Amino acid sequence: MPSTKPFWQLPALLLAGLVAGALVGWLAGGRVMTGIALVAIVEILVLLIHILRSTQTTTTVDVSAPRKSRLLASHLRDLHATARQWPDAVVILDKDQRIRWFNRAAETLLGLHRPTDRAVRWPERMAGTELAACLDPGSSGLPYEVTAPGQPESQLSVDLLPFGDQQQLLLARDVSHISRLEQIRRDFVANVSHELRTPLTVIHGYLELLDPEDVPELAPVLTEMRSQSRRMGQIVEDLLTLSRLETQHEVTDERVPMAALLAIVHKEALALSQGRHQIALESTAGMDLLGSPRDLHSALSNLVSNAVRYTPKGGSITIRWQRTPEGALYSVSDTGFGIPAAHLARLTERFYRVSSSRSRESGGTGLGLSIVKHVLNLHQARLQIDSTPGIGSTFVCHFGRARLLPPEGA
Ligand code: ADP
Repeated sequence: MPSTKPFWQLPALLLAGLVAGALVGWLAGGRVMTGIALVAIVEILVLLIHILRSTQTTTTVDVSAPRKSRLLASHLRDLHATARQWPDAVVILDKDQRIRWFNRAAETLLGLHRPTDRAVRWPERMAGTELAACLDPGSSGLPYEVTAPGQPESQLSVDLLPFGDQQQLLLARDVSHISRLEQIRRDFVANVSHELRTPLTVIHGYLELLDPEDVPELAPVLTEMRSQSRRMGQIVEDLLTLSRLETQHEVTDERVPMAALLAIVHKEALALSQGRHQIALESTAGMDLLGSPRDLHSALSNLVSNAVRYTPKGGSITIRWQRTPEGALYSVSDTGFGIPAAHLARLTERFYRVSSSRSRESGGTGLGLSIVKHVLNLHQARLQIDSTPGIGSTFVCHFGRARLLPPEGA
């Protein structure tokens, strides 16, 4: 950095040093000249050292310039080699979605070839694979899982990141081992649930045969055993439903007559409530749904059953089916206990409960909202939950236009 000191500062300092030397010499017995000479020698030495140091610095800068660029080039080579050997597929795409660069893993996992695939447009190169549309602005849900185009037995988790000047960095990681573990977990749960079903049915059957009046001393025990075996049976049924929904990728597209389904759901709610709540049905959409009647019935009635179970006596519940600009919504509002905000994000996890005791007392399995979420996913619909503790909750299912059908004969 250039010095900002004024030009006269150094001569003034040297002069001041000489005057000080003369003064000290005079005080030390009138040896003015000796004082001046000694200070002059010291000043010359200091100046010499300073000059030597600055020449050394200049020499180092000159010498290090080529070394620095060699060092930079070697770092670049290392970085390039690392990116090439990286186990995840890395692809750089320019602003026209053309392939600019890719590493070795991209050759194996994505089936890209060097040099023929350089500068080829991604949508055209990936046409016919699940990755073709991943750059579309409308494609949601990234990162998502797809089958590897270059290795069909592998599953990839794909992510897109903005990079440089309007470029994009596509990262694809082989997650086959995680998918396999997930599959093992799903199979295990399904098998255990299936194996438990028969013995539980037998136990439940015998318990039903026993009349508490025949053994009055065991009456409370029998009642509790019956209620617990019913609960276990329901858990097993819900686990089997979840296993089936998890392995399913799509639903049968059947007409679901909504007027009839809403009437059934309303009737079930009235039966479950047994007069403890006011339950209203507002159906204005005038549309049917396209999907699985059995699964949609299960999801829609799950929400109503929750509203009844988590709303104290005297509360009100409203079931709505109405049009929206995007399609239609089915909602269930209640004036029940409500849910603290901290729990909302986790409600659809298996066995997640805000209050275990309240869920158990009300006969819950902790799997209802998981089932709702899976059913909605299979119908490309989403669940929205709004709730205020002490005020109530609203569970909304948003269905897209593609799932709507005008009622028969309309
Ligand atoms: P559960 O069988 O325990 O009801 P769910 O998966 O249906 O299981 O619901 C998960 C949890 O969400 C419940 O245990 C309850 O704490 C909470 N919950 C669900 N619906 C409501 C509601 N309408 N009002 C208050 N809490 C609710």
